[in-house]
Amino acid sequence: MSKEQRIPELYGSLVFNDKVMRDKLPKDIYKALRKTIENNTHLELDVANSVAVAMKEWAVENGATHYTHWFQPMTGFTAEKHDSFITPVGNGEVIMDFSGKELVKGEPDASSFPSGGLRATFEARGYTAWDPTSPAFIKDGTLYIPTAFCSYTGEALDKKTPLLRSMDALSKEATRVLNKIGQTDVTGVSTTVGPEQEYFLIEKEAYKQRKDLIFTGRTLLGAMPPKGQEMEDHYFGAIKPRVAAYMHDLDLELWKLGIPAKTKHNEVAPCQHELAPVFDTTNIAVDHNQLTMEIMKKVAEKHDLVCLLHEKPFAGINGSGKHNNWSMITNTGVNLLDPGKTPADNTQFLIFLAAIIEAVDEYADLMRVSVASPGNDHRLGANEAPPAIISIFLGEELEKVVESIKNDTFFEKSGTTKMNIGTTVLPHFTKDNTDRNRTSPFAFTGNKFEFRSLGSSLSVSGPNVILNTAVAEVLSRFYEKLKDVPDDGIESAVHELVKESITAHERVIFNGNGYTDEWVKEAEKRGLYNLRSTPDALPAFIAEKNKALFEKHHIFTESELESRYEILLENYSKTIHIESLTLKDMVLTEFMPAVGEYADQLTASVTAKTSLDSHLGCKADMKMIRILSDGYDKLFDLVGKLSEDTDKAESMEDSLAQAKFYHDEILKDMEQVRSLADSLEVYLPDGVLPYPKYEDILFYV
Ligand code: ADP
Ligand code: MG
Repeated sequence: MSKEQRIPELYGSLVFNDKVMRDKLPKDIYKALRKTIENNTHLELDVANSVAVAMKEWAVENGATHYTHWFQPMTGFTAEKHDSFITPVGNGEVIMDFSGKELVKGEPDASSFPSGGLRATFEARGYTAWDPTSPAFIKDGTLYIPTAFCSYTGEALDKKTPLLRSMDALSKEATRVLNKIGQTDVTGVSTTVGPEQEYFLIEKEAYKQRKDLIFTGRTLLGAMPPKGQEMEDHYFGAIKPRVAAYMHDLDLELWKLGIPAKTKHNEVAPCQHELAPVFDTTNIAVDHNQLTMEIMKKVAEKHDLVCLLHEKPFAGINGSGKHNNWSMITNTGVNLLDPGKTPADNTQFLIFLAAIIEAVDEYADLMRVSVASPGNDHRLGANEAPPAIISIFLGEELEKVVESIKNDTFFEKSGTTKMNIGTTVLPHFTKDNTDRNRTSPFAFTGNKFEFRSLGSSLSVSGPNVILNTAVAEVLSRFYEKLKDVPDDGIESAVHELVKESITAHERVIFNGNGYTDEWVKEAEKRGLYNLRSTPDALPAFIAEKNKALFEKHHIFTESELESRYEILLENYSKTIHIESLTLKDMVLTEFMPAVGEYADQLTASVTAKTSLDSHLGCKADMKMIRILSDGYDKLFDLVGKLSEDTDKAESMEDSLAQAKFYHDEILKDMEQVRSLADSLEVYLPDGVLPYPKYEDILFYV
């Protein structure tokens, strides 16, 4: 049988998963580990030792020679430092060894990772701590152990620590509310995430010739070809063989790592595609998405392709995003966002729905911050992705339900009977009743919410930290209001609570077209945030109400928060800085010489023709020479201004003022350079530019 036919065996074959654990671990150790995984309880060292031995044996059997604590520092990428299992035992011999201590704790030097000021106050030493809730796996001959990364004094330096904290907070608050409304068998609630990942695939040869793609991940110059995405012929189109081969390989690699890649299709832009896995517990989904992005790039290499994960690789056609499908599930297996079939389920559904509406309304600014990045700024509000205004789409039917709750009126289910929604009765409605509204940043899609504002390269950790924490906060308020209500009054207390909450926060619900100017005006009237750019959004991260939120739920201490704020600002400025330098370099050393050379050629041709008394095309040539030489001079001046402003930006002390300057001045300078260059590019014959043009890149297959 071929490899493909044995997918079930292949699937997860490189993962130290539950089956391997059950096979390899003594029964009592397995039980203790499961308890740790399920209830987040502390793991004793003797258990860790035993797990380490089994893990090492399994890893060595599968070809591993090294292990690494794999973590997610604030760079946006993952980090790893490899140690081999070998331990000398004298006589020049070695054994393969791995202890519980090495499994649970590592000590990488933290000093070279972004710490946003935490570094100055704390020691350089950092710790990585094993996260047993995300399974270890083997990649390239190394055993990867997912870990959290913190400083010597326990300050989080990574993206996993706050995520785990937020999951704990949500679990605690949701469980209390559920217990109070009678779901007494629930002892924990997890959040689940299914991230849909968009990406571009381009020819490696083309990539290697473009400094902008290499240094910045996006093109900084390039005129649109005659054909872009306007024919809408790529979306869900037949997958070309070259891409199909890539996708097939990618699936196999992901499956080996236990990543349930499920759906793949072409996206709107030429060369753009999407991959979605089956959803998982948030922590695992986050790790898997990081791995997916990495494997996407690696597999592309093998196919002489390059996978671009930048949010806007090409101007003029759609960029790439990531949809964060999100829900909550009890330890008893109930999806809390499933509207359900019975009145009891509905009470539960409505209380969680109300909590989400309130959370999104109150912490919309944080949701916006959680998706803010220089790359994503090109998409949000540009009619290809949701606007920067965060609102909720419920769909027509659910909106009617909400209306009837608010007004104590009858809910009329389309085409059927009238029902009094008074206390409990919400008729069952199916998934299909929520329409698709791609313009909404946060849409209810049947039994989950889909947060659609994420950029394609973003770690999904951040947005989920915010969702979990904001919803945990509202649930804790709900619990405060319900906790002293006797059991027989709970039903109507919940009804009152839901009504009150929805009435206070319905302004965030919007079912219309989010791409229109009317919505921008309407949102302003409603008092919703419209934080257009990253520098506009970031200060919200450290607003007093948000500091209080994070501290109350033990997600970020004040210093952790301040440090993250600094890192985000710094990252913004650095990114634009590199883009500016790259643009200057390309224009001065590649674009202008090409223009100059072609203008010289035309001049030589005009001179020759005139001396021969042949004037064929001389008028056109002269016109072009004028356009090119005028443009050449102007371009030089514009690059000069860009360069001066960039020096100014670099010398600024205040990081917020600096980020704003990069946004307001440098991006504008860059845009002027680009638009002039692109207008000149159309006069240049093929082969004049030393790098491939848009049309050479976008239509390669
Ligand atoms: P779409 O209609 O957007 O294509 P799908 O049903 O295909 O929706 O799901 C898109 C993503 O949402 C997939 O990754 C899927 O696994 C995920 N998803 C489905 N149910 C849930 C859930 N309860 N929690 C989180 N993600 C979910
Ligand atoms: Mg979707």
